[in-house]
Amino acid sequence: MLSIKNLHKQFGDLVVLDGIDLNVETGKVVVVIGPSGSGKTTLLRCLNVLETPNKGELQINNKVLDFSKKVTKKNIQAFRKQTGMVFQTYNLFPHKTAIENVMEGPVIVQNIPKQEARNKARQLLEKVGLGDKIDYYPYQLSGGQQQRVGIARALAMEPEVMLFDEPTSALDPELIGEVLQVMKELAEEGMTMVVVTHEMGFARDVADEVIFMEGGHIIERGHPADMFSRPSNSRTKEFLNLLS
Ligand code: ADP
Repeated sequence: MLSIKNLHKQFGDLVVLDGIDLNVETGKVVVVIGPSGSGKTTLLRCLNVLETPNKGELQINNKVLDFSKKVTKKNIQAFRKQTGMVFQTYNLFPHKTAIENVMEGPVIVQNIPKQEARNKARQLLEKVGLGDKIDYYPYQLSGGQQQRVGIARALAMEPEVMLFDEPTSALDPELIGEVLQVMKELAEEGMTMVVVTHEMGFARDVADEVIFMEGGHIIERGHPADMFSRPSNSRTKEFLNLLS
């Protein structure tokens, strides 16, 4: 359902993605790991077309963006709608409550009536365990709670694929688990997910496939059980050793 073909991205002379190929089937979870600077965030940002690839093709369901041709704004918008992004920092509107943050996209972008959007937002906040905090402002919430609002906000747009860019890396260690738990539940419900994370426990438990990136290439890919117990590439081995 999600397909990436020969994706290239460079910033000036710096080649950051050098021919990435990846398919993610509906309901599968792919975890992307790799050293800092290997292109993981750029890959996710290309999937959301926050960055425009220089070459290659992206497809989600029947929407295709071929970057060797001219890609229109309209096509980009239609493509982007199918993705929901959760960032490292939560980027919530500080002057809006949790429920207002979650309602914002459906009301403003999708023109959904306010009451309907509110009902849906309440359900989503309940789903991420924040049913009792819907009227709290971001400053009244912990980092983990804010990130769960961020997940509910992305889900409110009913994406086909959820993209997570190191969603727990800004959190205090004791708050990481609650966010990973929400992500795990989403995966169990069949959400298609691409997750950049250093949380190897999450990768081991939840990922259908782990991708190891370095220098803009996919160096190794496989089922977490195989990759973690017997990585075939020496660079993967070295990276995993450094983490343990
Ligand atoms: P990772 O997520 O694996 O740490 P990134 O995708 O963030 O890697 O970055 C890959 C490389 O691209 C890095 O060298 C980074 O400095 C560079 N880079 C990322 N975004 C930009 C940008 N907007 N302009 C210039 N260079 C960038």
